[in-house]
Parts: sequence; structure tokens; C-alpha cells
Amino acid sequence: MLLSIKEMEVRKLPFAETWEPNGFDFSDSGVVQKSPLVAEGVAELLPNTGGEVRVHGRLRTDLETECDRCLGRASFHIDAPFDLFYRPLESTEQEAHRPQGPLCAKRIEEVAIDEGEAEMGFYELPGLQLQDLVREQVLLSLPMQRVCSEACKGICPICGANRNETDCSCRPHLADDRWMALKDLNI
Ligand SMILES: [Zn+2]
Ligand SMILES: [Zn+2]
Repeated sequence: MLLSIKEMEVRKLPFAETWEPNGFDFSDSGVVQKSPLVAEGVAELLPNTGGEVRVHGRLRTDLETECDRCLGRASFHIDAPFDLFYRPLESTEQEAHRPQGPLCAKRIEEVAIDEGEAEMGFYELPGLQLQDLVREQVLLSLPMQRVCSEACKGICPICGANRNETDCSCRPHLADDRWMALKDLNI
């Protein structure tokens, strides 16, 4: 779905899209979509901003990735709000070519403040592809460490067995000592 800037010039643009399981293209991210992906929200052109667009709403789905520790399946329920701002790609160039003056200086100041406080994306006409935005937000809402469970024991570094499934007889003493040291630090 295209979030059309032309339409936003007339009205706020609500959207409610659903992609059936595996219906969303996550490209090569190693992410599998297990339930419908729902993206709901509103896209609007903000008045007196030189074409700034705000897209906010909510995403819901269930995903599966590879566990970082044991390479098994790690499941994630995503239910996350998003609030994003986009500026027309050409506007920064135009500002640079404007004659210097008090008004111009004020505008540049505003730009600097905006960029400091929030991540600002850019768009080109005819507008924003909802799918691109959703893909980025869903991937961002996954935790940095993707594990099947906090208690995942991972793979034995000696024999390669999945230690959640088998209690191999290897005893990596060095690793155990390190864990003990970490435990002491936490206290
Ligand atoms: Zn695991
Ligand atoms: Zn082992």
C-alpha cells in the first residue's frame, strides 16, 4: 500500500493492513512470520513543516527466528506502537540554496533540533511504501538477543550438542568458572 502524499494533502490517511502468515516479505532477515501481521495507524502531513509526514500506529504479529544460543526456534510476540517522522528528500537541498536571512536561520535551527531528538526518515514522491516501513519497524521491535528462552543453555562448545535436549558429559570447567565470576559481579 502506498501512503500517498497527494492524498495526505487532502486528509489524514488511516490504514489497516493485514498480511496472512508468511504473506509478508521479510527478505533475507531469517525471520518467519507465524501469525497474521496487522499494521494499523494514520499517516498525516504536518501543517507548516515544509512537507513533514508523521506515521503512527501499532503493529502485531508472531515471529520465529533462530535462537542465538542453541540455533533452535525462538518465538516472539510483537505488539508495538510506532511513531515515525519523514521529511521530503529534496527539502534539505532547497534550504541550502535559500538566500540567507533571519527567517532562513530560524529554519535551519529547527532542522538541527529535530534531527537531534528523533530519527527522521526521508520520502520521495509519490509517497511512502507502508510495507517498507512495517518491515523496518517489525525487525526493530525484535530484541537484540534473540533467544528461545532466557534459560536456554545453548550449544556445548566441546561436542556441539544442544544442551537443552541432552545433558552431554562434557564439562567445560573454564566456562563454568567464568559464569561463577559473573554471578559474583551481579551480587
Ligand atoms: Zn535456545
Ligand atoms: Zn558436550
